[in-house]
Amino acid sequence: MVLHPFRNSTIFAILVVFLCLLTGQVHAQSVTGAVSFTYRCQVANVFQPGGNAGWSAMTEAALFIPPKTRCWIRLSVQQPLPQAQLADYYIFQRSPLIDIVLFDAQGGEIVKASHDGSSRNAIEIGRRLMLPLTRLNDGPLYVRIDSSNPTFQERVVNKGFSSLAPGVKAQQGILITTIFAAIVLLTSAMFTAAFGVALRDLGFGIFSLYTFALAVTLVAWDQVSLPLIGINYGWIWQLSNPISISMLCWLAIRFGKFHLHSLWISRALIVVMAFNLMLFFWALLSLVGVPLMPMPFERFEFENWQDVVMDVLILLGGWRGYRRGEQDCLMLVLSLTPSLVSDVVNRFWDPLMAPLLHDTLGLVLPEWLNSTIHFNGSLSWMSLPLVFCFVLARRSMLLHMTLLDERKRLEDRVLHRTHELHVANKELELLATTDSLTGLGNRRSMLDWIRHEIERSARSHKPLALCMIDVDHFKKINDTHGHLSGDRAIIAIARTCNETIRKIDMAARFGGEEFVILMPETDLNEARFATERLRAAIEALSIFSESHQPFSMTISIGVAFFDNHCADDTMTKLLNRADKALYQAKVAGRNQVVFHDGDAIVTPAEEFVVF
Ligand code: GH3
Ligand code: MG
Ligand code: MG
Repeated sequence: MVLHPFRNSTIFAILVVFLCLLTGQVHAQSVTGAVSFTYRCQVANVFQPGGNAGWSAMTEAALFIPPKTRCWIRLSVQQPLPQAQLADYYIFQRSPLIDIVLFDAQGGEIVKASHDGSSRNAIEIGRRLMLPLTRLNDGPLYVRIDSSNPTFQERVVNKGFSSLAPGVKAQQGILITTIFAAIVLLTSAMFTAAFGVALRDLGFGIFSLYTFALAVTLVAWDQVSLPLIGINYGWIWQLSNPISISMLCWLAIRFGKFHLHSLWISRALIVVMAFNLMLFFWALLSLVGVPLMPMPFERFEFENWQDVVMDVLILLGGWRGYRRGEQDCLMLVLSLTPSLVSDVVNRFWDPLMAPLLHDTLGLVLPEWLNSTIHFNGSLSWMSLPLVFCFVLARRSMLLHMTLLDERKRLEDRVLHRTHELHVANKELELLATTDSLTGLGNRRSMLDWIRHEIERSARSHKPLALCMIDVDHFKKINDTHGHLSGDRAIIAIARTCNETIRKIDMAARFGGEEFVILMPETDLNEARFATERLRAAIEALSIFSESHQPFSMTISIGVAFFDNHCADDTMTKLLNRADKALYQAKVAGRNQVVFHDGDAIVTPAEEFVVF
């Protein structure tokens, strides 16, 4: 079996998933650095106004940092769930509203990072805070997190120390992967936009916009150097994220054919889409200065959950479509799975399950497992452009094949029609040049033949004889035996003419009961024989009338020769001469052959042999 990636979506889907897991994992690893430590404190302490949260390292996580080494601390904070009355937690998320104080074993303050917006000495990389710290002494490092805002309602979670090298590596890693992803997406957007224009296909157009918006979102997400060049990434994020989510819904509906496989999923995605468009316009209007009230919900939190809802909808729709034979749907499902897993880890595992397991069972996941499940879901988004790109390529290939088939079918049809036309033309030509009663050539074709043979004779100087034949007293035959019998007589004469002449001679019905026989390369003597033989054959014919009465008839023949020595001789002159000879034959008593050789009329000689 030949595995063609465009024909076999499953292979491509597996490749895509593998790729996005790989990039997600690389990204995640580059961010977290080599080591991570878990700290905890009592919930109650965190929310004490201005109090010391009392963070302490878990026993196994005491960190010894070599003297005079710079290290980096990753810190994230997440909003607490009031109903979850957990004693300990260790979640990492972002927070703009917290002060972090690091102190050593003796309680000496080492560094304080304030995040109230006024001072900022931490480096922000993506959603994480990287705190630079220089340690002078050996010994465990403790972290205290101050929440000076009494209404501050956030869970405080700290994760990790690592040495300077991984920290720098993390920065570079994020920068490189983000720029790489953005370039891939922008290139893909450019190409598909070009295809879209070439094919005038809306799907390609929307897809290219989607990849473009996604690239921008990704850059805004990781905030690569944008603040440095004075761009407010917050606005970029607010504009690009709802746009890319709307388009993702639209593309999923369209390429998964959800409206065929599951109407309610399709409608639910349309709602998500409409909502995001509303968010987009809201942000856009605010951006241009329209005074709008703030959004009636915590937008950021909402978006996080929206990701999960949208992922689940697309997964369900994709699975349904796949079960109903839509191959492309499998790719949607497989490629979205990493993103969903990552979302689930962020929204369920970290805030709920991990603390619960720790508090109830004392279970802490091994480091390798922890870092494995914390791969970066944002980069698994990259798989989607790939999937759509593939689906578009596959569809355009199928379209191309259909077009080729269609072209072949059309060509066959044209060929068939041309053949039919050819046959019809032949028939028409035959009809136009044949006498329908006798099957002989008609006047028109005889004139063509004469013209042609005159030219040949003029060139070759070979004689050319033209015999004009008229049935004697034909009116009488009609009158006596009826028109139908007259027709029979005409047919009999035509047949006799045909049988009597040579192969190179041509016979035609010239008019009613008049015939012309053209005899190329025939001189006077040969013409004498031939015409006399014809005359006698007709005379000898016995025809039966409609009423079965036998009757016979005679013909008169006038013969003329083309004068190939005279440049003035023409077809009309030749015909006139033959007509004159015929007239002479009639005048001389009919049933005879008269030759018009130049000016002389040659009357028939008695010694002519009759066959
Ligand atoms: P002549 O010896 O002088 O030629 O006498 P004719 O009666 O043959 O005179 P002419 O050639 O002028 O008459 C031709 C007649 O042939 C006139 C017409 O009634 C008849 N005719 C012409 N075409 C047809 C035909 O297709 N079928 C039949 N039955 N008669 C025809
Ligand atoms: Mg006549
Ligand atoms: Mg006649």
